[in-house]
Formats: sequence, C-alpha cells, structure tokens
Amino acid sequence: MNAATVKATDQEKSLLRTFWDVFSFAEIRIAMKLVFRHMFVKSVTFQYPREKRTIPDAHRGALGLLRYDDGVERCVGCDLCEAACPSRCIKVVSAEDPKKPLSRVATEFYIDITKCVFCGYCVEACPVNALAMTKMYEYSTPDKRTLIFDKKRLYEVGEKHIEDAKRYLYAHNQEKNDSDSRAYRYKFPHTVTAPRRDP
Ligand code: SF4
Ligand code: SF4
Repeated sequence: MNAATVKATDQEKSLLRTFWDVFSFAEIRIAMKLVFRHMFVKSVTFQYPREKRTIPDAHRGALGLLRYDDGVERCVGCDLCEAACPSRCIKVVSAEDPKKPLSRVATEFYIDITKCVFCGYCVEACPVNALAMTKMYEYSTPDKRTLIFDKKRLYEVGEKHIEDAKRYLYAHNQEKNDSDSRAYRYKFPHTVTAPRRDP
C-alpha cells in the first residue's frame, strides 16, 4: 500500500467518525455521561449562607483588639503594629495613662480594612498580643466608610470573637498555655550550657 492510499483511508475514517458523531449526537452523549457520573459524587459546593464551612483556627479574618481577663486593655499604644503594617492601614494615637503615670495607652486606634491584606504582621509585631485575627468575614457593606474600624469597633470584634482570637494566637505560636509554652520555649536540640569541645 503506497502513501497516497494510506492517506486516503485515514481521511475516509475521519469522515466516517465525523458523520457518526453528528448522527449519534456525540456531544450530548458525552455530556450526559458526565452528568450521570457526577450524580454519584459527593457535592463540594456549600449552599452559603445556609451552610457554612468550618474555618481553621489559623484563619486570617477580621482583626480585633483584646483585653486581659480582668477587662484591662492589652494595647499599650507602642505603635509597633503600625510600623509593621505593609499596607499602612493602621493608625495608633497614644498617650500617657492618666490613672497610671509612665504607662501608655492607645487613645485612638484605626484599621482601614479596605486596605488590609490580612498578612498578620501586625499581630506578630505586637509585644502584648493585643491584636488577633478572628474568623469573622461577614462584614460586606455598600458604604466603604464603615470599613474603617475604630478602637470601639475593634474591641467589639475582639470581645465577640474572643475564643477565636485566642485560638488564632495559639495556632500561630503567639500565645501558649503554661505547659505548652514551657515545652515550646525550652525545646532545644542540645542543652544550651553544654561545654564546647575543642576540635
Ligand atoms: S493584617 Fe497586615 S495589612 Fe492588615 S493591618 Fe495587619 S499588618 Fe496591616
Ligand atoms: S496593638 Fe500591640 S503593637 Fe499595636 S499599638 Fe497596641 S500594643 Fe502596640
């Protein structure tokens, strides 16, 4: 069989296949096969807002300010979060605490959530774990101006989502309970005071 005959046979086969596909509604057949196959596969789509996903503890949601268990504000107005923020969306105004000389507090605190990229650097920079991220993500609004969270709103978020905030700090090794903290901080590969051996 020469090359020209082989080419002609291939063309005939291709033509026949095309005719068969057209007359047997091949596209519909393939689509229905896919539909039937997926009828027996578990759905991965959540019917939001009726169904909600389980959010992991390390999730970076809206930021909140925290208080100590006795209600005292943790924030000491040091501005480190503002300095660490790559989006320049934090503004802290601090002053001396009139009730405690030499102690400082944040008198004003703003976070422009529209600019926040949820990197978590501000939380890491805070020396007293006054900031934490929560699992809150439902704050869409038609008015962008309401997305500049002030101190009052940040403390409200922190209070409402305190358990999530604590879990966030725990998941990111920011805050541990006493026993975990000891295990975490003192887990060195060798003792620090081990004498050095001369080569
Ligand atoms: S999460 Fe990142 S971008 Fe958002 S306020 Fe904190 S440091 Fe800035
Ligand atoms: S939130 Fe933390 S880092 Fe930011 S000003 Fe307050 S104490 Fe300083």
